[in-house]
Amino acid sequence: MLEVCDLSFRYQKRGPLVLDGVNLTLERGEIGLLLGRNGAGKTTLFQTILGMQKPERGSMRFDDTNLLTCSRRERAQRIAYVPQRIRFGALTVYDTVLSGRIAHFGFAPGSEDRAITERILEEMQLLALAERDVETLSGGERQKVAIARALAQQPQLLVFDEPTGNLDLYNEQLILSEARRAAKERGIAILMSVHDLDRALSLGDRFFLMKNGKIRYTGGPEIMTEPVIREIFDANVRIISIDGKNHIITEETL
Ligand code: ADP
Repeated sequence: MLEVCDLSFRYQKRGPLVLDGVNLTLERGEIGLLLGRNGAGKTTLFQTILGMQKPERGSMRFDDTNLLTCSRRERAQRIAYVPQRIRFGALTVYDTVLSGRIAHFGFAPGSEDRAITERILEEMQLLALAERDVETLSGGERQKVAIARALAQQPQLLVFDEPTGNLDLYNEQLILSEARRAAKERGIAILMSVHDLDRALSLGDRFFLMKNGKIRYTGGPEIMTEPVIREIFDANVRIISIDGKNHIITEETL
C-alpha cells in the first residue's frame, strides 16, 4: 500500500506551497486517479513520490519501504514512472524495454529479463517495431514504448503522468486495458493522471481531486459529482447515466 502523509513541498524557499499537507493512500491492485487543473500540483506530487523532489515535511511509505530514505535501486525495483515528456537514449525498442529490467539484473540481463521483455512487447503489440531505433518512432509509438519499459520493470507501484496524451483511440484503449490488467492480475498499485474525466471515471477505483496543492476530495467514483467537479475544475459538466453507468459530459459537448 502507498501511504503519503502530510506531504508539503515548495520549489523556492519563500515561494508558495505547491504541495500543501497532501494525504493519499492507495492499495495494491487499485487504480488511483489524481485529477485537477493544470498547475494544481499533480506532476510535483508524482515527482516527490519518485524521489525527484525533496519534501519539506511529511512521510511516504510503500508497504514497509520508507520512500524518503530508501536507495534509488530499492525505489526503482518498486516504482516505475511514465512521465509526460519522455526522453530515451539512442537504443532500439527492444533494448529500451529491456532497460526497464536494470534495477533487477546485476551486470547483464539474463534469460528471464529477455523473456519478460518479449512478453511485454507482444502484449503491447510492439514486436514489429522491436529493432527500430526509438528516436525514429512517432510520439504515440514512443509513449507505448515508455509504458512497455515501465511494465518490464515489474513494479509494485506504477505512476503514469498523462499516459494517453499522444495516443489514438485504439492505442489509448490498449494502454488503459493493459494498465487495468496490471493492477488486477499482478496486484500493482497504479497512480495516474488523465485529462479526460469520463475516461477517469470509468477507470479509477479511487479518486484524488487536487486544487492549489491540496487534495480536496478523496474517495470512490461516488465523489465525482457535478458540484465537486465544478469546484475542482472551475468548469461545468453534466453527469448522465447510460446503461446504468455514469458518464461525465463536458459543457462544450452538451
Ligand atoms: P500539474 O501537474 O497539476 O499541472 P505541476 O505540479 O506541474 O502541476 O505544477 C504545480 C505548480 O508548481 C505550478 O504553479 C507550476 O507553475 C509550479 N512549478 C512546476 N515546476 C516548477 C519548477 N521547476 N519551479 C518552480 N515552479 C514550478
